[in-house]
Amino acid sequence: MSVDTLPTRTPTGLLIGGEWVQSPARLPVSNPATLATLVEIGDATVSDALAAVASAHDAFRTWSQTQARQRAEILRRSFEIMTAEVEDCARLIVLENGKAWRDAMGEAVYAAEFFRWFSEEAVRVQGDFRYAPNRDKTIIVDHQPMGVAYMITPWNFPAAMATRKLAPAFAAGCTAVLKPAGETPLTALWVADVMQRAGLPAGVLNVITTSTSGPVSEAILADPRVATLSFTGSTYVGKLLLEQTARRVLPSSMELGGNAPFLVLEGADVDKAVEGAMIAKMRNGGSACTAANRFYVHESLVEAFSTRFSAALTALRIGPGIDQGNDLGAMVSVKERDKILDLVGQAAAEGAEPIAVSEAPAHGAFIAPHIVRDVEHGSTLTCNEIFGPIAPIVTFTDQDEAIRMANDTEYGLISYVYARDAGEGIRVARRIESGMVAINRGIASDPAAPFGGMKESGLGREGGFAGIHEFLETQYFAVDL
Ligand code: NAP
Repeated sequence: MSVDTLPTRTPTGLLIGGEWVQSPARLPVSNPATLATLVEIGDATVSDALAAVASAHDAFRTWSQTQARQRAEILRRSFEIMTAEVEDCARLIVLENGKAWRDAMGEAVYAAEFFRWFSEEAVRVQGDFRYAPNRDKTIIVDHQPMGVAYMITPWNFPAAMATRKLAPAFAAGCTAVLKPAGETPLTALWVADVMQRAGLPAGVLNVITTSTSGPVSEAILADPRVATLSFTGSTYVGKLLLEQTARRVLPSSMELGGNAPFLVLEGADVDKAVEGAMIAKMRNGGSACTAANRFYVHESLVEAFSTRFSAALTALRIGPGIDQGNDLGAMVSVKERDKILDLVGQAAAEGAEPIAVSEAPAHGAFIAPHIVRDVEHGSTLTCNEIFGPIAPIVTFTDQDEAIRMANDTEYGLISYVYARDAGEGIRVARRIESGMVAINRGIASDPAAPFGGMKESGLGREGGFAGIHEFLETQYFAVDL
């Protein structure tokens, strides 16, 4: 098998009304590790997109009326198929996204878990029954599926960002049009094939891939048959989309960018902090909205932390993710890699000293991890979402100052706190403005937990008990019993 061989079941068409449609225009998908074209896929026009909306709208009539148990079973079968074929999913992720094999396997397992979690949640949506305080009526609170959901996903987690939306939407009884990112459409098409094999009726899921995501999305969002938008991507694009959804007052779930601070407080265990830093910074090669973006380390620990962190980064093997021995794969594209190098260049121009701890392969979108010590808070690397394996370290002396710097950003997705003990960690976490805080650990994501951000990192929550409610309308009945 060539290194670029795709799994046998890799659809390349548009999924509309249960049929794989081959559009005349084709879009190349490439492997960032080799820069070779993997395959060509469909390029949807506005008219294809509206056909997908029509199909989702028609399917909603029956799908929303199915038993929750039946929807749960389709989700459960999707989990089982995905788990049985997890290596195919990981292979596709590696080939189109570039990440290391271990990261891709981790993502594929995590992605499948959303099907399992929401197969369990589908049958547990709770309403409410109460008497009004003056007993003049009863209050019944019910939940109804919203309708057609338009979903837009990014390239950094091509499987998990799709299943984190699809599973709760289908559990709730909604139907969907999914538009994956241009760089990584194949994994989403593969997930759609899994769901078809699990018995998802035609039209419930439609997938469009396109080179014109702006006009296609604008037409979809203007269509009165679309009931909600679920977007994961940059804050910049999220704001553009919110302007469009505002025109129709469309509910909008937004999972946007991050600028996660990683605090190592006085008295923290340095080895544990380095272990956590390696996960928080390096999972997905640093291309994660949850990636630790800036490290604030107490002056008493900064020397030990920096030296050990640098040694751990140096030990990473860099190369194509398809070789399972490599720890750090390619960035998603040469363009993304160059954006990161540009930030490194700006930091150096500001007087910082970025040090590449190893050498990256010359061919392909690879980049070596860099460590940058003595960084000034407020400089380029602390203000921008780096999205790559660059670790800027700021030294602090006073805990209040560290918390102030952590909060000094328009973002508020996740933060990491390494403290003397969990009690101190929680006390500090309560003062941090982010939707999630990992305390004495380097990862927080879990399908059973509410994922989402404060401030410009987003609106709403995915996963957990909250996730299904992004696709349900609350309806109140005032009843004279
Ligand atoms: P992006 O540029 O915002 O793209 C995300 C998606 O939006 C892609 O599918 C893209 O399609 C589409 N898009 C771009 N311009 C559009 C427009 N004008 N109208 C409609 N859709 C449009 O983000 P990215 O570079 O793929 O992903 C990285 C960003 O996502 C980072 O900021 C990261 O923090 C964030 N992210 C957040 C979370 C979270 O849960 N909070 C999770 C993962 C990633 P095309 O590819 O076709 O342009």
